[in-house]
Amino acid sequence: MRVLVVEDEVSLRESLKAQLTEAGFTVDVAKDGAEGLFAGLEYPLDVAVIDLGLPQLSGLEVIRKARAARKTYPILILTARENWQDKVEGLQAGADDYLAKPFHFEELLARLQALLRRAGGWASAELKCGPVTLDTRAQTVSVESAAVELTTFEYRILEHLMLRAGEVISKAELTERLYDQDFERDSNVIEVLVGRLRRKLDPHDRLKPIETLRGRGYRFSLAREPS
Ligand code: CA
Repeated sequence: MRVLVVEDEVSLRESLKAQLTEAGFTVDVAKDGAEGLFAGLEYPLDVAVIDLGLPQLSGLEVIRKARAARKTYPILILTARENWQDKVEGLQAGADDYLAKPFHFEELLARLQALLRRAGGWASAELKCGPVTLDTRAQTVSVESAAVELTTFEYRILEHLMLRAGEVISKAELTERLYDQDFERDSNVIEVLVGRLRRKLDPHDRLKPIETLRGRGYRFSLAREPS
């Protein structure tokens, strides 16, 4: 999952980048509203964290302009003040949730995960498709109740595919969501990882959880179970 953090306080920006990276996100950061708007319009984001009080362009303006450009990823706003008007204005501008500073990182993470699940149409933290269960909080995967050990990248690919189970996800989208801009992009790497993922989830080739659609990408094709 690719997250943008727009925050002018250096220490908070750096610590969010480190903690979100540790939590498995690909993280883009911006130090002011102008940089934030550029990233918000140009990068293939899954979710954004935007501070309201920013130099150059306010957080509210960044959100309004991103929404006016039909960007639909969930946005969580950070507000320094206990000012209810800021929160209301932020939500009216198109934000989906808010958090007042100071906050615990665990709360930010839980809210981001909830926003991502809801954007994918899931109500609970456990994603179930047929016999495959992925727990987005514990970051664990099981098939027919037996735990499956995945590497970080395998997990991230599976999480992305399962959050949007039933949709076709292109190789380019997976690559952009999983690697930083400076990573050398190579879609062969994705093919190898998807191949490994298939063998781990379905060693006997019975379930066929991940379909390849030639020239279009991949689709997690096991039916979603209601949570
Ligand atoms: Ca600020």
